[in-house]
Amino acid sequence: MSVELRRNGLHVTGTPLSLDAKRKSPLSFVSHAHSDHIARHERIIATAATLRLMAHRLGNLSAPLSVPYGRPFALGPLTLELLPAGHVLGSAQIRVTREDGKRIVYTGDISLAPSLTAEPAQVAECDVLVIESTFGHPRYVFPPREEVLGQVESWVRRHLERGAVPVLLAYALGKSQEAMKYLADRGFPLVAHSSIYEVTKLYGELGVPIEPLRCYEGRVEPGEVLFFPPHLNRGGALAPLWPRATAVLTGWALDGAGATRRYNADVAFPLSDHADCPSLVRYAKATGARDVITLHGFAEELAEVLRGHGLDARALGAPKQLSLL
Ligand SMILES: [Zn+2]
Repeated sequence: MSVELRRNGLHVTGTPLSLDAKRKSPLSFVSHAHSDHIARHERIIATAATLRLMAHRLGNLSAPLSVPYGRPFALGPLTLELLPAGHVLGSAQIRVTREDGKRIVYTGDISLAPSLTAEPAQVAECDVLVIESTFGHPRYVFPPREEVLGQVESWVRRHLERGAVPVLLAYALGKSQEAMKYLADRGFPLVAHSSIYEVTKLYGELGVPIEPLRCYEGRVEPGEVLFFPPHLNRGGALAPLWPRATAVLTGWALDGAGATRRYNADVAFPLSDHADCPSLVRYAKATGARDVITLHGFAEELAEVLRGHGLDARALGAPKQLSLL
């Protein structure tokens, strides 16, 4: 058994199974509901929460197979098992075990920081690990999440006190809910752009309620904190709100002024739903994998760091490395 990179994404060789395929496939595991990981597959393997969040984006899904964490099941001669990935609500890793016992794990996007809104990631022991490397460069070392959220809270408080509207720019799925939960638990009333509002209502139905929250309709009441999608903060969308202060929540905040410029924000806080470089290394070691394959983002850099820690690691994506195992 091997894993290969096809035009539409990762595929487990010799099986019908794709992993986070980017285009319609006969059968794909979907690790989580971010738009770059989902498509209208003929058959889908995912957690119930991911299926629900996917259906919110794509409409009705054909032949969804809802799989709980930690319950292995058979796919032909293979045994498949989903484990929490800690990235967003419902996010999962998949472990594929073949008849002779060899285990491959694909992490999808993963975060090892304690989360207020996502199931905590579990170490998926395996022989071959396929791991994301979005922040796989050694320069990415995130401060503790609780510390970053504390800074966000202080920033919000400061601007409320001077009578300004605090606007937090954060992705509609995952990042927004994490910051919203933290602020809601501390008594801040929240208002959110409809795209964020709808996903947050789904979180509530899936067992993670975040209140008080209302849908943004052009007005923000005194004391409220506004959540808004980063890509919509252009063309004067927020111009009616004045005075206001904007902060973007992104791991790329560690890159300095680039993040604030890109999102037209006053300030950036390094709140990420991905693991940083040291966490990825710690995770790879904890799985006990003999072979590690890195993909996305800083794949070459992470592979090099892992080799420095004595692991047999290589990046996926170079043409000569199409066949992996
Ligand atoms: Zn993601």
